[in-house]
Amino acid sequence: MPEPHEHTPLDLPDGHPFGPHNLPYGVFTTPDSPTRRVGVRLGDHVLDAGAAATALGSPHTGLLTAGSLDPLLAAGRPIWSRVRAELTTWVTDPAHRDTVEPLLHPLADVRLHLPFAVADYVDFYASEHHARNLGGFFRPEAPDPLTPNWKHLPIGYHGRSGTVVVSGTDVVRPSGQRRAPGESDPVFGPSTRLDIETEVGFVVGTPSPMGRPVPLADFREHVFGLCLLNDWSARDIQGWEAQPLGPHLGKSFTTSVSAWITPLDALDTARVNPPERTHPLLPYLDDATTGPTGYDLHIAVAVNGTVVSEPPFSLMYWTAAQMLAHMTVNGASLRTGDLYGSGTVSGPTEHEYGSLIELTGNGSRPLQLPDGERTFLADGDEVTMTAWAPGPDGTRIGLGEVTGRITPAAPTG
Ligand code: CA
Repeated sequence: MPEPHEHTPLDLPDGHPFGPHNLPYGVFTTPDSPTRRVGVRLGDHVLDAGAAATALGSPHTGLLTAGSLDPLLAAGRPIWSRVRAELTTWVTDPAHRDTVEPLLHPLADVRLHLPFAVADYVDFYASEHHARNLGGFFRPEAPDPLTPNWKHLPIGYHGRSGTVVVSGTDVVRPSGQRRAPGESDPVFGPSTRLDIETEVGFVVGTPSPMGRPVPLADFREHVFGLCLLNDWSARDIQGWEAQPLGPHLGKSFTTSVSAWITPLDALDTARVNPPERTHPLLPYLDDATTGPTGYDLHIAVAVNGTVVSEPPFSLMYWTAAQMLAHMTVNGASLRTGDLYGSGTVSGPTEHEYGSLIELTGNGSRPLQLPDGERTFLADGDEVTMTAWAPGPDGTRIGLGEVTGRITPAAPTG
């Protein structure tokens, strides 16, 4: 064992959730240098991965000195594994300590950026608990809160990739049309039912050609990693416009993602079986023999610092592999940078609901926060989602947080 160096960021306590077993990727700048570069998080520091690659003569220097993760995402799974192995060596082998140590920047001193160019953005609806809760609110007269298709395919819609923002970006309250219950005409104005959706986003690296569906078994060849995602939702705008088509302006104003993309290679110990399938699945979605393809992510949602929910991702009915297979089964291609969201993660109990509409019973039971009651979000509210997954030997793997603060609606008229 090497001698522990005092005050060295490389000497993390055993089992630190951002230890060498994790190594999520992001893009950062420093006050001294506005050039964007790839960083890897270690503890509360960011390793300048490109500078380390240059100093150590890595064959992957070109990927790591880029201004975004896009070239690394496009490089494909064999390269992802090799780069990760190199990074692990750089931050753990004492022989590299003197080279690597000066290339670590305190997180507090850097600015984090959206780490990849979001190509297409698709959002799913994969939690049975969430779908049942929302079905009950939106279709109270229906005999079953689930629509007839729900157990046969992962429902999704195409969102707006251009408004995906990195964690920490303010969220301007959207304005739009809404119609109050019992009224005949809509009114226009700032949303009065601004909500969150606690989700996990999956980032596509390797593209696929048009006309060739991606089978379940090829999920890991295409998807590079995952991150927390907040699909901010204006329930009043959504409820009035989505008759009969899907989400549009009620969702497209902002979607926030974590600054850190956790590679799937870091999450092998977090793989779990999804819930038991209650309906037979068509072959392209049938995961009975594919091994565990769910992920055991423990999420916490805080409003102004108070944890209001702890949604369990392990209970999601549809897996990320099934979403990818479904998204491409018609021949639609994948592009590097495609992002798809899981849909709101909700568990069976009230403290596991991933949206305020569920946590407040459609606005009928306000949350009691230290700074007052909340049904939907007030201007100035800050929502932060964090998560961890089981790592090797009883450790935890931290996911980068996604946070955002609501600012007043822009003037209109
Ligand atoms: Ca959503």
